[in-house]
Amino acid sequence: MSDSSHLDRMQRKKEVIDERIARASEERGVLILLKGNGKGKSSSAFGTLARSLGHGQKGAVIQFIKGRRETGEYLFFRDHPQLDWHIMGQGFTWETQDRQRDIEAAEAAWEIARGLLEDPAYNVIVLDEMSYMFKYDYLDTAPIVEALLRRPAHQNVIITGRTMALPLQEIADTISTVQDDRHAFRNGVKAQAGIEY
Ligand code: ATP
Ligand code: MG
Repeated sequence: MSDSSHLDRMQRKKEVIDERIARASEERGVLILLKGNGKGKSSSAFGTLARSLGHGQKGAVIQFIKGRRETGEYLFFRDHPQLDWHIMGQGFTWETQDRQRDIEAAEAAWEIARGLLEDPAYNVIVLDEMSYMFKYDYLDTAPIVEALLRRPAHQNVIITGRTMALPLQEIADTISTVQDDRHAFRNGVKAQAGIEY
């Protein structure tokens, strides 16, 4: 391609982008859903959280599935003065066999989330792996949808999990699906600190 046709193309592109930027003038909090089978959902949520805290905003994380307690993100963020970190009580793990106990833990975590969704002090709330609560029928979507719709206008919420309940997708502003094209685990690479947790 010649230099002048490249310049033409870039100029047209800039016009299109400038027009889109001018049109996107609304300022408000968004509901972001990060779903799919590929690696990158929770780490994206925590990346956005870092952005938000970097701007002096206030955040909270609720982890609905208690994996390893000492994840790198927990160790990094836990002492941050602008952040609350909650790990679901007795908590659901893949090893849990006690459905009733899981439901009680899910409801307790939801009570914390409900309080955060009513509190205008919080700019960003990460509900990590919450989607499994709907998948296993531990929580109803209706009260959650209602609380999300009623939350403070500037508040951002990020929900992660492989499969996402449809009622949440209906009210979300941004939905990204992380596709699993390849994962090192399937080639025998074990979960490593700093990459997986
Ligand atoms: P991450 O926390 O790395 O962003 P994730 O939130 O997208 O991953 P989850 O479905 O929550 O993925 O899986 C939790 C754990 O499994 C993480 O340690 C993650 O790195 C790993 N993982 C994610 N996707 C895959 C996959 N397709 N195959 C194997 N392991 C995966
Ligand atoms: Mg995850």
